[in-house]
Amino acid sequence: MKVLFNGASATVGTAVAAGVLWLLGGRAGHLEGTAIALAAPAGLTVCLWTSLSVSMVISAVTGMPLRRTLRETMGISTVIAAGGIAVGCGAVALAYTSPVTLIVLPPILVGLVMVYRMQVDSAQQRDRWRQLNAAAKDLAILDRTAIEARATEIAYEIFRPDGVELVVSPVAASVPTTPAQPTGCPRGADDVATTLTGPSGQVGVLRLHFARPAPWREHDQAVLAAFANLVALAVTNANTYAEAHDQAFHDALTDLGNRRMLQQRTAQAIAATAAGPRFALLLVDLDRFRDVNDTLGHDAGDQLLRGIAERLRRSVRAGDLVTRIGGDEFAVLLTGIRDAEAAETIASALTRMLARPVSVEGMMLSVEASVGIACLPEDGETVDELLRRADVAMYQAKKTHSGYRRYRADEDSSTLAHMALMADLHGALDQGDISLCYQPQIDLETGRIVAFEALARWNHPVLGLLAPDAFIGAVEQSGRIGDFTRAVLREALSTGGRWRADGARVGISVNLFARNLLEPDLATEIAQLLLANRMPASALTLEITERAVVMESATTVRSLAALHDLGVRLAVDDFGTGYCALNVLGQFDLHEVKIDQSFVRNLAGDRANSAIVRATIALAHDLGLRVVAEGVEDSETINALSVLGCDLAQGTFISPPGSAEQATALLRDAGRLATPRSADVLPFRRPAGERSGTAAPARRAYPATDGI
Ligand code: C2E
Ligand code: CA
Ligand code: CA
Repeated sequence: MKVLFNGASATVGTAVAAGVLWLLGGRAGHLEGTAIALAAPAGLTVCLWTSLSVSMVISAVTGMPLRRTLRETMGISTVIAAGGIAVGCGAVALAYTSPVTLIVLPPILVGLVMVYRMQVDSAQQRDRWRQLNAAAKDLAILDRTAIEARATEIAYEIFRPDGVELVVSPVAASVPTTPAQPTGCPRGADDVATTLTGPSGQVGVLRLHFARPAPWREHDQAVLAAFANLVALAVTNANTYAEAHDQAFHDALTDLGNRRMLQQRTAQAIAATAAGPRFALLLVDLDRFRDVNDTLGHDAGDQLLRGIAERLRRSVRAGDLVTRIGGDEFAVLLTGIRDAEAAETIASALTRMLARPVSVEGMMLSVEASVGIACLPEDGETVDELLRRADVAMYQAKKTHSGYRRYRADEDSSTLAHMALMADLHGALDQGDISLCYQPQIDLETGRIVAFEALARWNHPVLGLLAPDAFIGAVEQSGRIGDFTRAVLREALSTGGRWRADGARVGISVNLFARNLLEPDLATEIAQLLLANRMPASALTLEITERAVVMESATTVRSLAALHDLGVRLAVDDFGTGYCALNVLGQFDLHEVKIDQSFVRNLAGDRANSAIVRATIALAHDLGLRVVAEGVEDSETINALSVLGCDLAQGTFISPPGSAEQATALLRDAGRLATPRSADVLPFRRPAGERSGTAAPARRAYPATDGI
């Protein structure tokens, strides 16, 4: 095909060039003296034609727009053509003047060709290292299948083989050295294979299939080795993460999912309801389970829970999720139900099934259960709300001994309080009853305060000082999230501006609602506030929950881009809890990840959590993101975070949120404000186990007694 094409293209090109020559007055036998110069335009025509025909073929094969392929081929062709024309004209001139000198031509030509080859080669090499560099970022995802797909694509781009076979394994060292047939990729004598070996052993095999012998040089081998290392590292990270993830979302006693898994899957269900399907959340609480525990002991209690778990699991459909979310509390997420009645029918069947006696240590025990039902989407918009409402319904079921109960707003005492709060909120926003407290974030390397997170408080005239848990829901439903966030931003930036004016270079973090990103003027307003308070944009971090980031709407994406252009920093809040879309981190231009408290709290004692935190830190750092751990409550945790290479920490161990005055006092005590004092850093102690003189960077250790 190639020979045919090149032959045809050259024939047409020569004919066109001859035509041009003829038009310009060149005739056969007349090519001498100045007429030789006519060869130049003719040569140029050949060059243009060659570019055009090659571009057309590339476009037709790859589907790339013609203009782009033209741009890419034109440069090289022009250089080649210019060289060719110069050499050609020179050769013809030589032939006319002194034919003997033509002998020197071949070595010159060979030299030129070699220089050209070297040029192309080194350009290709540079290209490959650049591609490898880009691949490192592309592969920093924590999903094995995605890594496999992306790595295959990259291998095609870098090595241009005729086939790629990539096999990665969930467990190190369980992959055969040569992948088993058949995998769809043909094999041949010219294939190149390499094993993927990560820190914990072999995790896969990569084979490049070449249909014909390809020139494979030392340099290619080096690139392949580097690429194999990249993939192996990515797979190892993904494996560690998947394993830890399984543990962290799993209830060891019953083998069911745990509360975290329920929260995550409910969040996904909420997102899915937009497309039509309906779900129901059933909260199952055993009546008088404590009696079993108290009279027969914990072993019997555990057996009973396992039996109940097994029954629940067997009585739902494959797509439904059964979890144990507390001591004797189970939750079932029903997928794709027709309507609320269907959910009630299932709940009724569940209570009847659970009431049948279970055999525990040879005794037949019977426990009854109460089931509360909340339906998605109508009974709640957020995971917390749905869980709370299912709980309200469950409590009603228990109180009325009815077995199961669907949520009803008129039985929900908090609904009334909620509505009253919503009514009060308008006044609060107008009168400025919303205030802020500030919680410091410290750099784990230096111990210095680098930023404060602004957290809203409502000074309610009757109820007193309210924490966000009590009123954030009301704000979201009141339709005044714009005003609320504006008030928070105004206050936070004014405080931050004052600190800066007094010489403290600290940043400020503000929480946004997902829906704030739907307001078109957000970036402009923030820009104005920054200007008014003489704050550089980089000193403001906006915290957005995972769900808001992945909520793919054109407006959200535009908002995020505008904020990014403005220069403010963007952080993903509560990372790990919501959608768990790890790849999100790579897709958006973010600056910071805040690991959720639930992973941090028991970090030192919980293997699964520490593996998740470690993997998240590694991933975030690969993507150039800063990592903040929140919920640091003790010295063990802060030391563990420090060892894991976390950048910043926030939590009650360092300092609980305090008023602006308290935060200012913290800064002053740390010598960060105009009147400097010396004790800017915490007392230094090496982490246990790290001796002086080791190569590890000396990280700070925190004394167990107190925080800042
Ligand atoms: P968040 O953004 O995850 O904020 C961190 C919360 O964890 C704060 O609770 C903080 O006081 C608490 N915290 C900090 N360190 C520790 C610790 O070591 N242990 C424990 N157990 N908790 C710790 P807070 O102030 O009650 O805020 C709760 C949530 O309310 C925030 O969670 C945030 O989602 C929301 N929120 C607060 N202020 C605003 C705001 O101005 N706008 C928006 N949209 N949401 C806000
Ligand atoms: Ca936050
Ligand atoms: Ca958070």
